This record gives sequence, structure tokens and C-alpha cells, in this order.
Amino acid sequence: MTTRRARRIGIAGAGFSGAVIARQLAEAGHDVVVFEARDHVAGNCHTERDPATGVMIHRYGPHIFHTADERVWSYVNRFGAMVAFNHRVRTTVQGRVYLLPVNLLTINQLFGTTLGPDEARALIAREADSSIGEPQNFEEQALKFMGRRLYEAFFLGYTRKQWGLAPSEIPAAVLKRLPLRFTYEDSYFNHPHQAIPRDGYTAVVAAILDHPGIEVRLSTPYTEADRADFDHSVWSGPLDAWFSHRYGRLGYRTLDFEEIRAEGDHLGCAVMNYGDLEVPYTRIAEHKHFAPWEEHAETVCFRETSRLAGEGDTPYYPIRLAQDKSLLGRYVDAARVEPDVTFVGRLGTYRYLDMDVTIGEALTAADGILHAFEHGTAV
Ligand code: UDP
Repeated sequence: MTTRRARRIGIAGAGFSGAVIARQLAEAGHDVVVFEARDHVAGNCHTERDPATGVMIHRYGPHIFHTADERVWSYVNRFGAMVAFNHRVRTTVQGRVYLLPVNLLTINQLFGTTLGPDEARALIAREADSSIGEPQNFEEQALKFMGRRLYEAFFLGYTRKQWGLAPSEIPAAVLKRLPLRFTYEDSYFNHPHQAIPRDGYTAVVAAILDHPGIEVRLSTPYTEADRADFDHSVWSGPLDAWFSHRYGRLGYRTLDFEEIRAEGDHLGCAVMNYGDLEVPYTRIAEHKHFAPWEEHAETVCFRETSRLAGEGDTPYYPIRLAQDKSLLGRYVDAARVEPDVTFVGRLGTYRYLDMDVTIGEALTAADGILHAFEHGTAV
């Protein structure tokens, strides 16, 4: 049966997931209401100008857009001017500053050498622990591919602080996000498109939501009672919260930000990591350096400290330890049979997602919902 009547869709969350799905459904002629518990759109990508300095602040920590997905890249460009931004990260360890991700300069500085690419490759091969087969955790992954000295300098302390756990307790996949390079290339990401929106992420998300078929309700959580008003729901809140935590709570790390204000520059770069365990914070971000096309006489930075999220804290990083994964399995099974709702995004699927992946998955989810409406099948 083919049916073309407009449906009413309730979407929980005005981050990238919720906004992109809302837009796709509205453009297809459906009526969408987006419920956002916070008083702003854009979720954890939210940006706003600091009143004192005029600097564009990434309120929930730095976000750099990077992608190899052409569909996603052209999608974001429809909704805001994206300015090329090559993200570079430095790290302070034992009283010295190095470049990340680990590259030829980092290796030569740490070992006090002047090695070329092949020599450095040979050095790291000697450093690496070849007795490790398939790495079972972050530490084994590091020891197998870079050896103990690089691991202990740049990863051991930082990772302990970031995750609150020994690296031997953390999945190997966390380290796989970072490359090891045998050139002097120090760009943090490898993707062909790397940019920051000129007017901030919130303006991009607001533009995505700006459609006559979309109503946005800020400071309004999506409740069980709201569900009855809609033909279909899209949930980008925490997966376990939808089910009232019936099997227990999925674990998250949250972040605390401590403000630093100064004249001129404080760090002189966008992000400085701190690898030593004795330094309590993981990194400092100087936000004016995320918009190098702007000039500001004063600066505002944020020191980041990570800790286990308690009730009421903003969830950032899904922890995904063994106990979380078994809990996640039960919620995923429940989600699969839950009628008339689609679970999306970092919180709705309990995965650490980059923005481009979030947008790509939202476009795919919207296609799936529209296909089901079109063919009268279950979503
Ligand atoms: N990491 C580290 N030292 C660093 C930077 C990263 O040990 O100086 C580890 C840490 O465990 C982190 C992971 O590598 O969680 C991934 O780093 P990424 O920069 O992708 O983390 P994000 O910026 O997403 O927090």
C-alpha cells in the first residue's frame, strides 16, 4: 500500500542528529516538532560568543569538523559558510612541548635524534613489542605499534586522566583514532575536508532547523505523554533514559571546564594536551585559535578535567567497558522491538561519534523513515 499523507513526527534533541532528520522529513512534506531540553540548539556542538571578549566559544569543548564523506560535506555547506581549518595539537610532557599526533618531529624530539622516515620506522619497529598478537586493550595496542617509551610519554598519563582507568582496561579501538606518522606532517586529522563554521555550529544547526515544517521547542524535554501526539518518534537522548534505565545505567565520562582569562594569547595555539599524570587536567583549549580569521585583543581558555558522569551531569564520552557493553546489548535488543521510534546519535546509540558520522547516519535514518512511510511498513 502506498500512502502519501503527511505524518507528525516528534524528535527529541536538537543536535545534529535531530536537526538533520527534522529537515529531511520536513522537506518531504511532514510536520515535525523538535523538543530540546536545553535552552539552545546544537547539542554538545553549541557555540556562542563570549560577552567579555567576543570570542566564539565551543561551550561543551572544541569541535573541529572533518570528513571524507562528500554527501555530508555538501550537506553542511548548504547551511553555513565553512572555513578551512587545519587542526594542530601540542602536548606538554615532563617540561617539554611536543607535536601530536606522534610524527617524525615528535620521535626525533623524544629520542634526541635526527632520524629520517626509514630510520624512524626501524627505531619504532625495535621499540614495538612484537610478542603481542591481537591487542586486547589500549595498552597492548600502544606497546605493539609504538613501544613503551612513546606510550609512557604521550598516552599513559593522558589516557588515565581522560578515562579514569588504567589503559589496560580500555578498548584498543580508542587508540586507533590516532595515527602514527613517519613524516613531519602534524595535521591532527587525515580527512580531505577540515573546517569550522564561520558563524559557529549553533548557526548551522539553527539554519538546518529553519523550515516551515519544523517547530522547535526549547527548554522542553520530550516526555512519554508527548509520544501519543505523533505517528513516529526520533530519540537522540540517552538510550537507557528512553527505557527509564530499566536494566541499569550506561556509563559516561563527563568534563569540567575551568575558565582562564588573559590579555593577548595564553597558549598561543588552539589545544595543548598535558600528558603527565601529576597535572590534573587533560588539556587546555584557547578558543580564539579556532577562528584564526577573527582578531581579539583578549583571550579566554578552558582547562578540561574528565570524571565519571553522575546523575544530572552532561554525558560526553560513552565508556563502553565490558559491563556497559553487556548492558548496551540488552538495550539494543529492547530498542529493536520498540514500536514507532528511531534511536539516533551519540547518546541514542551509545557510541562516540564524530560530527560527520552523526550527520551521515542521520541522513540514512531519515531515508529509512521516509521509505517506511512511503511503503506503509514499520520503521
Ligand atoms: N590520547 C592520549 N594522549 C593525547 C591525546 C589522546 O593518550 O595526547 C588518547 C586518549 O586515550 C584519547 C584517545 O587517545 O581518549 C583519542 O584521542 P582524541 O584526540 O581522538 O580524543 P578526543 O579529542 O576525541 O577527546
